Amino acid sequence: MAILTDLFNGNFMPHGHCLLWRPDLLMLHVGGDALTFIAYMLIPAALVRLVRARDDLRFGSMFLMFAGFIFFCGATHLLGIINVWHGYYYIHGIVKSLTGVISIMTAIMLWRLLPEAISLPGKRQMQVTIAELVKAERKLAEANQHLEAEVRKRTAQLEQMATTDELTGLLSRREIMRILEVEIARVSRQSTPLSIMMLDLDHFKSINDNFGHQVGDTTLKTAADSFSIFLRKTDFIGRIGGEEFLIVLPDTKLNDAYELAERIRLVLEQHTVQAPSVPACTASIGIAQCQPADNLNSLIQRADEALYQAKSKGRNCVVGT
Ligand code: GH3
Ligand code: MG
Ligand code: MG
Repeated sequence: MAILTDLFNGNFMPHGHCLLWRPDLLMLHVGGDALTFIAYMLIPAALVRLVRARDDLRFGSMFLMFAGFIFFCGATHLLGIINVWHGYYYIHGIVKSLTGVISIMTAIMLWRLLPEAISLPGKRQMQVTIAELVKAERKLAEANQHLEAEVRKRTAQLEQMATTDELTGLLSRREIMRILEVEIARVSRQSTPLSIMMLDLDHFKSINDNFGHQVGDTTLKTAADSFSIFLRKTDFIGRIGGEEFLIVLPDTKLNDAYELAERIRLVLEQHTVQAPSVPACTASIGIAQCQPADNLNSLIQRADEALYQAKSKGRNCVVGT
């Protein structure tokens, strides 16, 4: 009770007495304190707002300590005004002491944070870092582009490898079969004729045996080149086995396919197109025209049977079904 009575005892001599109640001196002190009080209330409010608005702010607690200590400074100036007319010096003293305590705490905190704050990168250093980052990003983008181009190149190479036979440059087995399936589907939709030709070089093993595998390879390649010149742009030719070829002839009836097969057979037999260093070889050819009920397997099987018959008949001939 005694403490409370002392605390709210305003009977001490007010400041006004010391200032002899002179209006000019009073106004000077009261005005100065009032302005300082207003400023010391606005500054912490602004600091608190800043800390609340920016969740990425560094040293946020330091800003709040500043806000607290400026607030208490403002409170001492308010009591300075009140005490011009009253004498609450206990309260004034307590507020001043609190201001002192929080100021000391703020100072300690500030000194402790100082090394970290000093080590923060400055604007120039940030600009250098940003420039380095931009450079690194550009390099990365260039590397990426290079990589993408490499992937495109490799993909094209893989596609080429999947669709082309390496030795002869003709279509691969998988690609010619895919094309044949498409052409068979077209026949059933558009009712256009489609014929295929299965070609197998005769006694090819003996070429390898007599001249070696490398000459065998050259013979295969030159033979393949010699058929290809007879084909139209709309025809397709693929190597489907060691020395076996499949020719797909869209818009071609069996008779026309037969004539073409004869021409191919003759050119091999007469050995006109091939280079003199390449041994002569003949071919047996089976041809088949696609029927409405045909699918890939049945059509291939019929051409295969025709080829088998050509072989049985003594080779170097054409058989159609
Ligand atoms: P047939 O008249 O009955 O067709 O007799 P062939 O000798 O042509 O048939 P066979 O199936 O007995 O032998 C095919 C030969 O083709 C055997 C193999 O060494 C050869 N061959 C397959 N692929 C290649 C190749 O890529 N290069 C070479 N040089 N020879 C190959
Ligand atoms: Mg064969
Ligand atoms: Mg053969």
